[in-house]
Amino acid sequence: MTHPFLDLAPLSATRFAAIEDRVARLLDTGQDVVIMQGEALLPLEGAIRGAAGPGTTALNVITGPYGQTFGNWLRDCGATVVDLAVPFHTAVTADQVRDAFAEHPEIDFVSLVHAEAATGNTNPIAEIGEVVRERGALFYLDAVASIGAEPVLPDPWGVDLCVIGAQKAMGGPAGVSAVSVSERAWARMAANPGAPRRSYLSLLDWKERWTDGGRTTLPHAPAQLEMLALEACVERIETVGLETVMARHASAAAATRAGALALGGGLEPYVYEAREAAPVATTLRVPAGVVASELVTRALTTDPTLPLAAGGGALAKEMIRVNHYGPDATDEAVRAALTALGTALEEKGLRVDVAGARRAVEANWG
Ligand SMILES: *Cc1c(COP(=O)(O)O)cnc(C)c1O
Repeated sequence: MTHPFLDLAPLSATRFAAIEDRVARLLDTGQDVVIMQGEALLPLEGAIRGAAGPGTTALNVITGPYGQTFGNWLRDCGATVVDLAVPFHTAVTADQVRDAFAEHPEIDFVSLVHAEAATGNTNPIAEIGEVVRERGALFYLDAVASIGAEPVLPDPWGVDLCVIGAQKAMGGPAGVSAVSVSERAWARMAANPGAPRRSYLSLLDWKERWTDGGRTTLPHAPAQLEMLALEACVERIETVGLETVMARHASAAAATRAGALALGGGLEPYVYEAREAAPVATTLRVPAGVVASELVTRALTTDPTLPLAAGGGALAKEMIRVNHYGPDATDEAVRAALTALGTALEEKGLRVDVAGARRAVEANWG
């Protein structure tokens, strides 16, 4: 019996390298791009453990839950960590980063999340990159939630380790990911005795056994289905055009923000400033007396496929996430999500204007 997922021919090294090159073109980067055989947390952790060690002083910027995780990995590597936390309803500024360097001139590594799908904010990487470059620190960026939704430009921004995953705005698979690595970052890892070697977490293994060897022999059997899905998803972005895909996400964010305000019922954008709100997903604050997770559960009973979720952990009470990314970066998805939230709020006795919200989505769809 044949099956579409099974009995596939092995994925060749040539094909694997071609997919890597396509991902590099998506990032418009001349750096080495390494595809990793796992969800984005694999290169996120591998890059930190490769580049940081007891001699490192890291500025770890926390604008959401992932920043907390990075700080834990950095400490675990023996790095000295300077945490710079900003409230989740805002973005970090280049001035805050500059001040941190002034206070701790020994900082030689900066970790930062570009956009946070979990909190809905996005950070000004071009400006921050300038500060990091002035100081000569290594710049590590989690661009999982920004790639496909807004520009991600590791070369002009001076990002040394830029991690992406396909599962958000790229509309692709979650089981493979990629990291672009600058020459400086390779040198830092090569000089780090604690960098993972002969390990699934090792970026250096891929450099030595794959990239430096001219990419002719794969070190192990690649995650074939995920690689094919990654290829298909990058190809689709190339066909539609990256600009078009990003514009859809920007429209979805603007329409959700305007639509939620028009809906009323006490819903408010969680991120105060629209320019600090991520195009990948829009977070909303529920009014006092309403529990966000309950409202979302109620809204999802009308249609479980709606791109709605409550905030994670402690945010589950107060935050709704409208995950309008990938296939859900459409005006239909945004309208349907707001309509379902409106119905659920109405059941709570709150006054909403569903028709007004739907009109606002229309009017703000770029
Ligand atoms: C989604 C996301 C990841 C990947 O995490 P998953 O929950 O496994 O998809 C990493 N970093 C950021 C900033 C993300 O938004």
